[in-house]
Amino acid sequence: TGQVETHEFQSEARQLLQLMIHSIYSNKDIFLRELVSNASDALDKLRLETYRDKELQADTDDLHIEIDLDTEARTVTVRDNGIGMSRDDVVNLIGTIAKSGTAEFLRKLKEAKDEAKGAAGQDLIGQFGVGFYASFMVADKVTLVTRRAGTGEGVRWESAGEGTYTIEPVADAPQGTSVTLHLKPVDDEDHLYDYASPWKVREIVKRYSDFITWPVKMAKTGTPEEGTDEDGAGEAAAPELETVNSMKALWARSKDEVSDEEYHEFYKHISHDWTDPLETVRMQAEGTFEYQALLFLPSRAPMDLFMRDAKRGVQLYVKRVFIMDDCAALMPNYLRFVKGVVDAQDLSLNVSREILQQDRQIRAIRRRLEKKVLATVKTMMTEEPEKYATFWREFGRAVKEGLLDDPENREQILEISSFASTHHAENPTSLRDYVSRMKDGQEHIYFATGESRGTIENSPHLEAFRAKGYEVLILTDPVDEMWVDGVTGFDGKSFQSVAKGEVDLGDDKTTDEQKADYADLLKWMSASLSESVKEVRLSSRLTTSPSCVVGDAGDLTPTLEKMYRAMGQ
Ligand code: ADP
Ligand code: MG
Repeated sequence: TGQVETHEFQSEARQLLQLMIHSIYSNKDIFLRELVSNASDALDKLRLETYRDKELQADTDDLHIEIDLDTEARTVTVRDNGIGMSRDDVVNLIGTIAKSGTAEFLRKLKEAKDEAKGAAGQDLIGQFGVGFYASFMVADKVTLVTRRAGTGEGVRWESAGEGTYTIEPVADAPQGTSVTLHLKPVDDEDHLYDYASPWKVREIVKRYSDFITWPVKMAKTGTPEEGTDEDGAGEAAAPELETVNSMKALWARSKDEVSDEEYHEFYKHISHDWTDPLETVRMQAEGTFEYQALLFLPSRAPMDLFMRDAKRGVQLYVKRVFIMDDCAALMPNYLRFVKGVVDAQDLSLNVSREILQQDRQIRAIRRRLEKKVLATVKTMMTEEPEKYATFWREFGRAVKEGLLDDPENREQILEISSFASTHHAENPTSLRDYVSRMKDGQEHIYFATGESRGTIENSPHLEAFRAKGYEVLILTDPVDEMWVDGVTGFDGKSFQSVAKGEVDLGDDKTTDEQKADYADLLKWMSASLSESVKEVRLSSRLTTSPSCVVGDAGDLTPTLEKMYRAMGQ
């Protein structure tokens, strides 16, 4: 064997490991879910790689996951013969946490702790998946041996989770990865289960990983476990293995065969989220182009929702075979937070992202998925208003991007949108409800854009509307500034900014006499202010303020103007 090197964990990784060691998750069983999930991903990646690279010297004969227990030594080993990792992979993937938003998350967690908001801290951590590091909840030492498929030399990584890890080359590592957990002593007070117990481990696999499409094998119950042959007299007979998961693709099973819990665990596997989804959506299409889809609306926005490289959540399978993650061709950008799987029957396994973008059938599927998601949210809106409120709070800002990106479904998107309004201080309103409250003679849907509810409410522009009892939508998201320009109306009523043009409230009370009286003053004011304004007009729109600035009908809204100015345009 070669040189043993000692490395330090990146500081965020160190902090997360500390959290793991001091076990902040109440459910420790999930460490196994994470390891099996990683092994399954590694097998998917290997299969893909062999499609792409015909030269790859990989062994793909008997791809599977194996869990070995040693009750004497008290170890659990999860092994896969998948893609494996190179030395650099190990350092980068296991020694650091690249997940966007980790630093932000840790800061919030620390805040919650400092302010002794115990419950808030629990809630936060419950939402943050730690993947591989979950091992340190149950183990005081973790050993990982891995060899990247197609390469000669393997790597052994080991750590007690306390700031450092060691790494060394291994000459004879099998292809793929094995992770061995040296279990912490059983501690009743801590309710730590004995994870070296076969029945316990089987139960966990059944509960959390049953749908994994690769076989998860364990020693047959009744056959001697490895490690019971202690006299050293030759090799212990390899125990007979059996597959413990059903491997049934969830999306291919009928709805009443699958429990909510199974759907939720599947969601966690594909999304790497640790929280249950808000809604599960199933679709089945038969006929000329057959496909099945299982989609999820998460209950929380991911931290990277508004980052440029945010991932799209839909995976593509072809005839049960995983083809790709992050399939942009299957979901429009404004619904990028939707997670799930689409399994198409008639595509080639070699299909590439470029081909998908062009494919007519894929485009047809995408249209169907999009409509189905919008319809699901619409139903939620009427049947489960609280759920809908959560959905809108988390994803509304993204959904509104669709008002511009997707003219074809604009009416549908408007239908499921809600907006803050002068009608109620806290609850947002749907446009449907707004329209139903419109006063006799009110022709338009009025809105005001601005930085905050406070500034909008104090604006003199609102006075006349308030006086007439007209409701005004209060739009404060940057995306609002964009769509209000492109979207003309809803349900035959046009959108109208309260800050633009001569808002015709149908009762201009300025008389010709008044106009004549003020003509000189207005002329003088127009001249004095000519640098800043086009015209000074007499108006009856204000009730308490003496004057206000309005834009021309075609102008940018004040906030948008500010945004452009800030960008130097
Ligand atoms: P995540 O799975 O959400 O990416 P993890 O902490 O579970 O986060 O794993 C981190 C990374 O380590 C994975 O993305 C993968 O690249 C690598 N990895 C973990 N386990 C394995 C494995 N069994 N085989 C190959 N790579 C693995
Ligand atoms: Mg993982």
